[in-house]
Amino acid sequence: MSAEQHHSDDRGTRRPRGACPRLSEPMETGDGLLARMVLSGPVPIEGFAALCAAARTHGNGLMEITARGSLQVRGLSDNSAPRFAAAVEALDIPFDDHVPVVGSPLPAHPRAGFNAQDLASEIRNGIAERALRLAPKVSVVVDDGGPISLDGLAADVRLVLTDSSSAPKVSVSLGGDGDTATPLGVSQPERAGTVAVNLLAALAASGAKARARDVVAHEGTERFLRAAGDHLDTAPTRSAARTAETIGLHRLAGSACAIGVALPFGQAQALDLIALARIAGANGADWVALAPQRTLLLGPIGEMTAFALGTAADTLGFIVDSRDPRRRIAACAGAPACRSGHIPSRELAARIAERLPQGTFALHISGCSKGCAYPRPAPLTIMGAEQGARIIDGDSVRNVPTNDVYTDDLIEQIVRRVAAENENA
Ligand code: SF4
Repeated sequence: MSAEQHHSDDRGTRRPRGACPRLSEPMETGDGLLARMVLSGPVPIEGFAALCAAARTHGNGLMEITARGSLQVRGLSDNSAPRFAAAVEALDIPFDDHVPVVGSPLPAHPRAGFNAQDLASEIRNGIAERALRLAPKVSVVVDDGGPISLDGLAADVRLVLTDSSSAPKVSVSLGGDGDTATPLGVSQPERAGTVAVNLLAALAASGAKARARDVVAHEGTERFLRAAGDHLDTAPTRSAARTAETIGLHRLAGSACAIGVALPFGQAQALDLIALARIAGANGADWVALAPQRTLLLGPIGEMTAFALGTAADTLGFIVDSRDPRRRIAACAGAPACRSGHIPSRELAARIAERLPQGTFALHISGCSKGCAYPRPAPLTIMGAEQGARIIDGDSVRNVPTNDVYTDDLIEQIVRRVAAENENA
């Protein structure tokens, strides 16, 4: 973490429920304090293994990768959280502990026309230099147009390389994901960092709680266009949506590859992550990066090595096949890990996945009505409730549930309904 991002005076401060947890401000959950980190770029494999070891020493050994590709460490305590933070800082692992600036995770991809991590770094430094005071959940996405798409991540400011030919351009948009963000214009790559910081400054000037989506909805884009000035060409543009798979083999520069494996329902034991990192290291990999869709990337490795590493990851319980039925289910931490959980979401998810055929996304299991794991309508949802659980058809947990069932009936009902939908598909 760079010096300007380090706020030692708030280390160990408890994060209020409802705000984003950080390393320096962990959040209370059902199994103790939870710390979240946004790693800013690939991490040396030994450093990652040491981070996992620290999570095991100071937390309860459970680690998570979120749908946005953030790292979470569970089961910290008031005493151990500051020690964990100190241990991580001693490792010199780059991460954002304030405004998350998420860059494309793969290094030096041949199709990438600019270096997303360098640009992300420039933006972080710009935020720090101008001491911008932004709302707690403001974030920035810097997507190099490579194979790991960041289209699924909503952000206040999005920079996406749209043309990696001889004249690359960066598409700039506000307040949404790849589909929903409001396009603002295009910038030259060398000016994109300045544009992003100017846009964030305009957002900060809109108020301490301002989010880009709300400002655009109420005022339009005028304030932001003024802030970007002549660094931005306002020709209408929207980058094409990409459907990228994070699991599997990804080509890097030359003949090198990276392999992506996912954590089942986003969670793994620190010991299994350490084992995977060590096996990858023994096979020549020297870095680990985190990606959306709860994915861990390891590289650089050769194509043949990737096969052996995939087999080892499978044995350790990681998801190595994009068609794995566990990927058909989004499940939150649930009970007992989350204090708000009425049902053990991940335990239910694992039992249901064992009986599901391969197929597309089918089910959301939410420990309560907050819907952390999938805040959108899902084909089917099991939502924990005080009475047991509810099944919701084709809607979001935030809308009115249709009927109640007892937990004991759930697995039979869900397996029957998903199987019937598979037959009808
Ligand atoms: S949805 Fe799940 S993780 Fe989110 S608050 Fe409810 S029980 Fe906790």
